[in-house]
Amino acid sequence: MDLRFTDEEIAFRDEVRHFFRTALPPDIARKCLFGQRLSREELVRWTRILFARGWATPAWSPEWGGTGWSAVKQYIFKEELHMAPAPEPLSFNVNMIGPVLIAFGTEAQKRHFLPRIARLDDWFCQGFSEPGAGSDLASLRTQARLEGDHYIVNGQKLWTSTAHHANWCFLLVRTDPAVKKQAGITYLLMDMQSPGITVRPITTIDGYHETNEMFLENVRIPVVNRIGEENKGWDYAKYLLGHERSGIARVGISKMRVQRAKDLAARIPAGDGMLGEDTGFRERVAALEVELKALELTQMRVIAEGATVTKGRPDPKSSILKLKGSELQQAATELLLEVAGYAAMEFDLPFLSGAAMSESGVDWAATIAPNHYWVRHVSIVGGSNEIQRNILAKSVLGL
Ligand SMILES: Cc1cc2nc3c(=O)[nH]c(=O)nc-3n(C[C@H](O)[C@H](O)[C@H](O)COP(=O)(O)OP(=O)(O)OC[C@H]3O[C@@H](n4cnc5c(N)ncnc54)[C@H](O)[C@@H]3O)c2cc1C
Repeated sequence: MDLRFTDEEIAFRDEVRHFFRTALPPDIARKCLFGQRLSREELVRWTRILFARGWATPAWSPEWGGTGWSAVKQYIFKEELHMAPAPEPLSFNVNMIGPVLIAFGTEAQKRHFLPRIARLDDWFCQGFSEPGAGSDLASLRTQARLEGDHYIVNGQKLWTSTAHHANWCFLLVRTDPAVKKQAGITYLLMDMQSPGITVRPITTIDGYHETNEMFLENVRIPVVNRIGEENKGWDYAKYLLGHERSGIARVGISKMRVQRAKDLAARIPAGDGMLGEDTGFRERVAALEVELKALELTQMRVIAEGATVTKGRPDPKSSILKLKGSELQQAATELLLEVAGYAAMEFDLPFLSGAAMSESGVDWAATIAPNHYWVRHVSIVGGSNEIQRNILAKSVLGL
């Protein structure tokens, strides 16, 4: 198996790299570099730039606005995006509801939603998790009862990230409580303007408001907004979770963070020289870079062998990417935290949220600690790392 890029792939990489250098608006580029969070408007603005270039939804089928790129080219694109660093298009739209609609939506749903999802005219959030239904998602209790041509929905969702920005939500509800729990679930699209929806913020350990709890009281959802068949929602959700996991290794982001740690260390005095020259620091960086290279090669191997999703189910090997990818993301933010040292103790919520840098200019370190704490969530979402280990034990190792 040859894991090297071809000449054509290298030319493609250069084209993509040039695009990110020239097309990313400087204000957004700066925020990404300093680890600041983007506003809704900024993500929409960047998505429209990608859309105009035809690159907002590379992995979709060309019929619905995808690029038709090979898996390797898609990988290169994502890697360059992460290393630029440029904002990732909204995952709920591009990696989750878009592929589900393409695979299972009606013609009318596809025509209406897909262009709007790609341009971020519609912002979707994911209403899956509930109190008591996270890893064991099939235990969800939010109920939907059919009344004429509407479902009436009652229940509570938890951890609904960006629900405060979203105008749509893809939602799992229980439509048949009498059958095996996976067999009684339906997949609906909910207009967030519908009466009966209350969204309450959850502030996470980084001090930021990204996620929410969502209460649903007699919310009316038209039957035409159902995906596929009633009580078949679990199949569509599994398909979606496969897509969610396949993008989760994020080697490029970790590489970018390690590079930033090296750049900062070259400027931070330690002992008689600079931190970047310290043997302990260099050994630490080298160990992390070796692990990242190994993960990158594993990712290339998975791509070379076929898709991360086969027959509508996540390929169990994508669990390795999720598990190792999240561990290395956390290792990279920890390295940055240690490089920043005491400077990372400054907590500056306005700066994290996108405010301009202060006169003193010390805020280069102000996002490092909150981003480190935020990245704790990557080993929880998309199927926690303990769950991934269970999958690997059963499906890959056959234990
Ligand atoms: C920041 C953040 C954003 C999120 N955004 C969204 C969102 O937008 N939409 C959405 O629907 N959900 C979202 N989630 C929810 C996320 O998917 C769940 O948190 C996740 O599925 C874990 O579920 P739980 O929190 O209920 O933990 P639990 O499932 O209760 O797990 C608790 C602990 O037990 C372990 N565990 C559970 N079962 C097993 C098992 N069988 N074997 C071994 N260990 C096990 C877990 O690994 C974990 O360590 C988000 C979560 C976070 C933290």
